[in-house]
Order: sequence, then C-alpha cells, then structure tokens
Amino acid sequence: KNRVNILGTEFDNFTEKQFHHYLDDDLDIKANKFIVTPNPEIVLSARKDNNFSQIINNADYVIPDGIGIIKGAKSLGTPIPERITGFDTLKYLIEAANRKQLKVYLLGAKPEVIQASAEKIKNDYPQIDLVGFHDGYFKDDSIIVQEISEKQPNVVLVALGSPKQEIFINKYRKSADAIWIGVGGSFDVFSG
Ligand code: UDP
Repeated sequence: KNRVNILGTEFDNFTEKQFHHYLDDDLDIKANKFIVTPNPEIVLSARKDNNFSQIINNADYVIPDGIGIIKGAKSLGTPIPERITGFDTLKYLIEAANRKQLKVYLLGAKPEVIQASAEKIKNDYPQIDLVGFHDGYFKDDSIIVQEISEKQPNVVLVALGSPKQEIFINKYRKSADAIWIGVGGSFDVFSG
C-alpha cells in the first residue's frame, strides 16, 4: 500500500478524485471497507494509545482530514496531494448511495440530530433506502449490531466521536459488507 507515515499514523497518498473512484468500485462490488479520517488531534492521541493506533493503521482507507496533516507530510519530505475531509466524504457516500440506490444506516449523535439527518436524507436523497438509524447514546451495542446485521446496509455512517466510533466499527464491521466510516460531528453539520 502507498501510505505516508505522519507520527505513526499511515495516510493514504491519493487525490480526492482517486479516492472517490475507489469508493464507487467498492460500492459496486459490495466490498467491506473501513474509512478513518484522522486530523492532527487524532494523530496525537493515537501516539499515546497503541490500540487506537493499530485500529487506524489497519483500516482500509486513512484519509488526511486537516491542513495540518498536509503541511506535516510536506515538511517530512513525503507530500500527500490534498486534504480530504470526513464531512466531504460523508456527503460523497450519501450522493453515491443515492445515485446507486443503495441501503444506508446512520448511527450516532444526539436523538434530535440523527432524526433530522434521517429526515434530510429522506427528503433530499429519495433513491437511498434508509434502512435504519439510531442515536449515539446507547448502553447495549447488541441491539444496534443485530439491526445492522438484519438490514445489511451498503453504507454505515458512525458518529460517536473518536476513538469510540473507530473502536465500534473495528469490532462490528463484519456484521455487514458495507463501507463503514467514523464521521465525528458531521451529522451536527449535515442536519443543520
Ligand atoms: N457522540 C455520540 N455518543 C457518544 C459521544 C459522542 O453519539 O457517546 C456524538 C456527538 O453527539 C457528536 C459526535 O459524536 O455528534 C462527535 O462529537 P465530537 O465533535 O466531539 O467528535 P469529533 O468530530 O471531534 O471526533
């Protein structure tokens, strides 16, 4: 794999256009993929947490979400073409799911935020089959994992903050052959 190591986190070295092309292919063949979008803050926290660091580096795509990552890569002599944000990736996956008429599951954020995000998807992306959504303040993982396993979404968007969302995805991604991504606070923006 062509990756660039920034303080222990190994970032993919491609443009956003190339990345989107890979995602389209993954969706077409129903591949099981895990995307992480570390910003500088996450790179620093992964340095202090070996388990988190391993989860990130074992993901299928590690995307530079922040200009600090791009600047760091350049100053280390191993430049990465461009910043790719988690939010833009969330939007691309939603657009692609709509275009391809795929199944989507939303997990995380406050109840009113995820409700509003679900409404927005139903209104603005009518070809998406929204198979379920749940807020991010649950005690028992198993109800959610059961639902994902039954519905078999093609895209699972997880907003539990880091490292919670990455730990969750790493643990449960085998429950559906989907593109899984931790999207942090993106629903708070998307729903507004
Ligand atoms: N969140 C959640 N469950 C939790 C903790 C956080 O659903 O147990 C949600 C929170 O509502 C927010 C999102 O996770 O929508 C990420 O929040 P934050 O901006 O702190 O994360 P970051 O984007 O910095 O990773």
